Amino acid sequence: MRIVIIGAGFAAMYAALSSARLRDIRGATPKDLEIVLVAPEPTLVVRPRLYEPKPETLTAPLLDVLKAIDVVYVQGRAETVDTKQRAVEVATGDGKRRTLAYDRLVVATGSQLFRPNVPGLAEFGFSVDSLADAIALDRHLTDLAARPATAARDTVVVAGGGFTGIEAATEMPARLRAVLGAAAKPRVIIVDRSEGIAPDMGEGPRPVIEAALRQLGVETRLGVGVAGLDQAGVTLSSGEHIDAATVVWAAGIRAAPLTEQIPAERDKFGRLLVDRDLRVPSVAGVFATGDAARAACDDVGNYALMSCQHATRMGAFAGNNAAAELLGEPTKPYHQKAYVTCLDLGEAGALFTRGWDRKVEMTGTEAKKTKQEINTVWIYPPKAERAAALASADPERVTDL
Ligand SMILES: Cc1cc2nc3c(=O)[nH]c(=O)nc-3n(C[C@H](O)[C@H](O)[C@H](O)COP(=O)(O)OP(=O)(O)OC[C@H]3O[C@@H](n4cnc5c(N)ncnc54)[C@H](O)[C@@H]3O)c2cc1C
Repeated sequence: MRIVIIGAGFAAMYAALSSARLRDIRGATPKDLEIVLVAPEPTLVVRPRLYEPKPETLTAPLLDVLKAIDVVYVQGRAETVDTKQRAVEVATGDGKRRTLAYDRLVVATGSQLFRPNVPGLAEFGFSVDSLADAIALDRHLTDLAARPATAARDTVVVAGGGFTGIEAATEMPARLRAVLGAAAKPRVIIVDRSEGIAPDMGEGPRPVIEAALRQLGVETRLGVGVAGLDQAGVTLSSGEHIDAATVVWAAGIRAAPLTEQIPAERDKFGRLLVDRDLRVPSVAGVFATGDAARAACDDVGNYALMSCQHATRMGAFAGNNAAAELLGEPTKPYHQKAYVTCLDLGEAGALFTRGWDRKVEMTGTEAKKTKQEINTVWIYPPKAERAAALASADPERVTDL
């Protein structure tokens, strides 16, 4: 029997750990139940940190931990999924392909930036969504130092005033000063179609965010969109043109394209609708998890968000349940009552909220300490030590904040 997990993000990592954990608990061997993880690199990209400088350092190796728990790593990109034949075709590099049959499939392919058809976006837009994008932005910022000092050189426009846009924008004054020197006067402007900043965060946290933006001198243009980008900067739907050498697009993400190959219902973000066991109900043998799945996380109408916090725990349940079905064990319905947000606000500290109504619990340096701990400890893979790694993936205990 074989479980194939596609992806090497937070959800896939915990799917691998938790399926191996259950295999271990039931005394099954890797010969009885093979667990295979397929991804282009055996590396966890720490996406929640990609707004930081030196993004090339923001990865963590997975090979040793996978070896320690007897999970087979197959390097490559899953290109096609045949849910009738229960097979995944993987492009393994050098034009080679390999077909992997599965008894259970865990789709943990995550999400990626949605790039709408805005003129100039493909040519002139940067982002902090993937490792490659974050590295390209970091290099571009570094190269600004060699340009003549102009207002445009020192101006960054961030399109999107949600979670990612705010973190990218509030980090930017310090990043620009580090590149351009302390005398530089960076200008950072967030553009968002909503009338208020951080539209999804609600009324409670908004004053904290607004105060941080004021403190850092970050400007906003609200109720307007980006009409186009060009060499000189951006033109807004209001007609205003902002001269800016740097435009960061942070206006929404979608589930990765592989989800389109699963013949099942998806939401407006492309996420596969799953049942409480994280099974895609209409397709035998397929589970979806993390940013690739839309799952209820309690009985009162809350749904998992496209977040690391949810992906980690959803991964643990999906892996556990895929193994449980093959080992004749009862599955465990996914549930995640606790919900917190921790938003980095650059040199203005951070914001920590608890609950779905996002009650503000910590701000400033106190919240920043928690953010740093989350970003440098909590979200990293466990050590490559078998017993501890397997124990870390008990679905009932993962990310219970
Ligand atoms: C700048 C930024 C800041 C963020 N801040 C926060 C935060 O503060 N808190 C929070 O909770 N979340 C945050 N997030 C969101 C969080 O990073 C995502 O929700 C999380 O990464 C989702 O995990 P995942 O495992 O589902 O997918 P991902 O992390 O996207 O991983 C997907 C994996 O699938 C692989 N893959 C995709 N397609 C294929 C294929 N066809 N074949 C093989 N492999 C494939 C990818 O290579 C990758 O390894 C942030 C995201 C960004 C970009």
